Amino acid sequence: MRVPIRLGLELNKLLVMKIALHWQILIGMVLGILFGILMSGGEWTKQIVQDWVAPFGKIFVSLLKMIAIPLILVSLVKGVADLQDISKFSKIGGRTIIIYIMTTLIAIVIGLTLVNLINPGGGISQETIDVLTEKYANSSGVTKKIETAAKDSGPLQFLVDIVPSNIFQSMSNNKMMLQVIFFAILFGIGLLLIDPKKAAPVKALFDGLNDVVLKIVDLIMLIAPFAVFALLANVIVTTNDPALLLSLLWYAGTVVLGLVLMVVVYLIVISLYVKRNPFSFLAQISPAQLLAFSTSSSAATLPVTMERVTEHVGVDKEVSSFVLPVGATINMDGTSLYQAVAAVFIATALNHDLTFGDQLTIVLTALLASIGSAAVPGAGMVMLVIVLESVGFPADKLAIGLALIFAVDRPLDMCRTVINVTGDATVATVVGKSVGKLGDPQVQNWDDHYKK
Ligand code: ASP
Repeated sequence: MRVPIRLGLELNKLLVMKIALHWQILIGMVLGILFGILMSGGEWTKQIVQDWVAPFGKIFVSLLKMIAIPLILVSLVKGVADLQDISKFSKIGGRTIIIYIMTTLIAIVIGLTLVNLINPGGGISQETIDVLTEKYANSSGVTKKIETAAKDSGPLQFLVDIVPSNIFQSMSNNKMMLQVIFFAILFGIGLLLIDPKKAAPVKALFDGLNDVVLKIVDLIMLIAPFAVFALLANVIVTTNDPALLLSLLWYAGTVVLGLVLMVVVYLIVISLYVKRNPFSFLAQISPAQLLAFSTSSSAATLPVTMERVTEHVGVDKEVSSFVLPVGATINMDGTSLYQAVAAVFIATALNHDLTFGDQLTIVLTALLASIGSAAVPGAGMVMLVIVLESVGFPADKLAIGLALIFAVDRPLDMCRTVINVTGDATVATVVGKSVGKLGDPQVQNWDDHYKK
């Protein structure tokens, strides 16, 4: 009896501890995809996946979301309170916002250039448009997105939304992350300004809480490889007709090509400005990227992004605890690139002429729309409605427009979320470097992590 138990323990140690986390997650993803394909054969096998496998993925996403708000709160309060003076904070804040806007603009310009060069909307046949319109224009997925977009009172609403009227209410809603950030910064500044003797115990408390929360993230990550299996198996069994996906190949290919170019931009920045090996950087943040792909949510991925950027890339908490949560909510390079490509694709396919001025309008609205998009699955498509409206796209054709891209939205959402997260991690590293807060990683490999 003892031998098999021992053997099991050893095997478990070998499997869970020895293989680097990103490999564990990758193996989980590949097995999940294969399992999903295997179970896509019949309606009842699909149902089995949805009933018995998918819930484990949902539990994992809930766990990550559960820890996101406490993590932001304690790490940001600690980060601000650790600063020597407030002027440093405004330096970090100012640089962060400027670099975020710059990377988003680069993404949009890449998207617009590619969509104009490749022109995927010109090659789509009327027959395909008809099929897609019939299938999706009146589907709840499309109509819900248009309704949600109509509810937003304008592209600058997000500014109004930053200031909470009741912080406990904000903390109970993951969509109000910016409000929690706002409160945490104020709290940290308050802590800096009071008598240091009185501040000391409060700081110590937040210090301890910060370690506890990070430990919880580590614990949650232990089930990541199994959870991504469940998440991807479910994506595969609920995916659309592959033939339809194929008809949108040029459009999807344009978005993906743009996203890949954006990664190249990040790698160049890491290599030239940060002066680090860009591929090591990618390896360090890869678990966060893989989770972004599996969950389609930068908000759910945030705890892992913070852990990777702080402990594995070596960005100081003072910087990462501010730059990353802000980035998860406002910096969406992948989303803005996709919105630019999708807007031009839809306009061209439905014969709505776009002038050069319209394309410039897309640059501005895609910037604002990506800032306003929530960091959850499918949010980018909601804000696409606003981009389309800004170039005078007729309201009665909106449903048809969205129907054209709906079939491939989930896979593209997975890809653009990876870029959103990679962009945040890159900017955190750049800001860290620029203010002298980029040190050596605390954790070199997965083993060290557990020895800690
Ligand atoms: N899913 C994306 C994110 O969470 C947002 C989007 O483009 O839909 O970053």
